[in-house]
Amino acid sequence: MTTPAKGPALQRRWVLGLTGGIASGKSTVAALFARLGIPVIDLDQVAREVVAPGAPLLQEIFQRFGSDLRLADGQLDRRALRARMFHDAGLRRQLEELLHPAVRAHTEQWLAAAPGPYQIVVNPLLVEKNAGDRYDRILVVDCDPAQQRARLAARDAANDSQIDAILAAQASRAERLTVADDVLVNDADLAALEARVGKLHAMYLGLAQSSSTIAG
Ligand code: ATP
Repeated sequence: MTTPAKGPALQRRWVLGLTGGIASGKSTVAALFARLGIPVIDLDQVAREVVAPGAPLLQEIFQRFGSDLRLADGQLDRRALRARMFHDAGLRRQLEELLHPAVRAHTEQWLAAAPGPYQIVVNPLLVEKNAGDRYDRILVVDCDPAQQRARLAARDAANDSQIDAILAAQASRAERLTVADDVLVNDADLAALEARVGKLHAMYLGLAQSSSTIAG
């Protein structure tokens, strides 16, 4: 039996996937982890960055789907694009085929360079896209639907029927809870949330540490 040559220790990264329904508190929770020094990337934000003015992908979108999607300031007219995608499932698929590899590549690059004992990817569509296996552990931010509706109404000035439509298009609360390794209930004030994040952070430090020890 030969003993494998000992090379440099493998850089095993430990990545937490953070998800939750709309207005459940994902960004608030992510900001609390960031305050504890944990690097966080938000896939909604990445999806905007990969089509920012100057990004090669934006040129491709204008070429393939029409330069009328270009606003006067060079930005993508997201509202017009959303309206077109709503009526055209083929267009939605084509656009996703362009966007997803770009978002994925950007995220992989970020993860390769991000410091910290572990990293967090905020993936609002983790359940809808069945993306759970990309992460070492999944944290679901959960709140009572009535509270979720109230937060959504307060933040986005959305009315009841708009809120119904948004919630119907998302994974259900039960579907999300099924994939969760941990559930962070966001049903109290920010101080309570911060305390819960602190406890999870302590646990994640331990898990990331033992995972890197095993890999090394
Ligand atoms: P989205 O799905 O739209 O990206 P999100 O899940 O990131 O939303 P947040 O933006 O973090 O949710 O929170 C939704 C709203 O609720 C925000 O206005 C936020 O300030 C407020 N909020 C979240 N948690 C709490 C809390 N524990 N106490 C008070 N307000 C809160």
